[in-house]
Amino acid sequence: MSSPKRVNILGVPVDCVDMARSLERVDAMVRGDRAHTILAVNPEKVIQAQTDPILRRALEGAGLLIPDGIGVVWAVRLLCKEHLARVPGAELMPAICAESVTRGYRLFLFGASEEVNVQAVAELRRRHPGIPIVGHHHGYVDEAGMGTVIEAINRSGANVLFVALGSPKQEQWMEKHLPQLPAVRVCQGVGGTFDVLAGRVRRAPLPLRRANLEWFYRLLTEPRRALRQAAIPRFAWQVLRARFGGASQPASGARGG
Ligand code: UDP
Repeated sequence: MSSPKRVNILGVPVDCVDMARSLERVDAMVRGDRAHTILAVNPEKVIQAQTDPILRRALEGAGLLIPDGIGVVWAVRLLCKEHLARVPGAELMPAICAESVTRGYRLFLFGASEEVNVQAVAELRRRHPGIPIVGHHHGYVDEAGMGTVIEAINRSGANVLFVALGSPKQEQWMEKHLPQLPAVRVCQGVGGTFDVLAGRVRRAPLPLRRANLEWFYRLLTEPRRALRQAAIPRFAWQVLRARFGGASQPASGARGG
């Protein structure tokens, strides 16, 4: 299967995929012979990548970059004339889990608090009896303890690894530790998805999600995110400047397919 078309938003690549195409790509990567990362692209990350070279490198080297936020969908439409739908990371991860039962993936869940991690695993087992979860570990581990986590992942034989440490910590973790995990083929950074699975964080009600207002709901329910969401107006301004103000926008369609 060919790689999806890859466009460029303010220097950060994004793949032109919907959920079905993302799952096809995941399957091809699991059956491949080397590790690939799946990262979500949203306005906060695009802005942060401008000053964070590790995050930028992680984004540039990713195997699949999903248009996670409506801001990115809008920017792709405006700058690259591609009409995408959102592929939220919080939906792709459970979709990969659903596929894993018939496709023979071996899953490992790394991240979140011990309690949330265990509850997320239990919820996935409730939803998908027989789901091949071969291991899991909470995400509050210092550098000295990381060897134990790496060993647990390697011993489990997992080929699909979900990392829930928040951004940019999870991207930094992947850059550093993925080379130590020879059996892993797909590693998705999933942020707060285990908290959602565990029922600790609710996603926005469906009408708000349909109205593309999930970001607004999160702002109201998790005010500590306000600082991070301050990146949204900056992102919007830079996109508008790139589109209408003659500022240079790196070429789109860096990878065809
Ligand atoms: N987390 C972790 N270890 C850490 C820091 C954070 O496991 O050292 C977990 C935290 O418990 C939560 C997730 O990482 O489950 C971060 O969620 P958040 O919603 O902040 O991530 P985002 O999707 O916004 O990047």
